[in-house]
Amino acid sequence: MPDNVYASPHPLVAHKLTKLRDRNTEPKKFRELIREIAALIAYEATLDLATVPTTVQTPLAMAPGTELREKIGLVPILRAGLGMVEGIWDLMPTAEVWHIGLYRDEHTLKPVEYYNKLPIEPTVSVCLVLDPMLATGGSAVAAINILKRWGVIKIKFVGLIAAPEGIENLSRNHPDVPIHIAAVDSHLNDIGYIVPGLGDAGDRQFGTA
Ligand code: URA
Repeated sequence: MPDNVYASPHPLVAHKLTKLRDRNTEPKKFRELIREIAALIAYEATLDLATVPTTVQTPLAMAPGTELREKIGLVPILRAGLGMVEGIWDLMPTAEVWHIGLYRDEHTLKPVEYYNKLPIEPTVSVCLVLDPMLATGGSAVAAINILKRWGVIKIKFVGLIAAPEGIENLSRNHPDVPIHIAAVDSHLNDIGYIVPGLGDAGDRQFGTA
């Protein structure tokens, strides 16, 4: 495994991921689990955020403190990444959310951009790219290309399940981008689904299966 891949060793993540995979898990519970796991993975992914020392007045005395220095952007890849936003936003409520719309062409499996309203100048210093499934890696590579062109240097991928093919593609194209996930699965099937995976993360969240 490339050394830019961090698969969470946390038992809470493993427990929730098992429930998420279960074909009998209903969309309401599925959305709840995506939100919770996303927050746990993002917590691990932000361990190295830059901070500045500060002080704070408690009811008793001055205390040394810490403030985040970086402006964070959450970049969900539409549509499956949407469900990851809320849980992470609870942890970092001042983060900006910038949506990028990419769909996979069913025949070529290549990403096609259909939504991107990024302003000309970057407004954040670190971006978390959110997509629950790192399958071929095509969408993640395309989204990160867009963010690098926008001018963001510090970018992390935050997902739930990755296929080895997606890890290889993303690591080859963007070796500087750490990949934070809950699990690495066996392989992609011939229509680009992760096996064993959890099926279609968009359909299962939005009840459109
Ligand atoms: N997208 C999904 O939702 N599931 C997969 O298994 C692969 C891509």
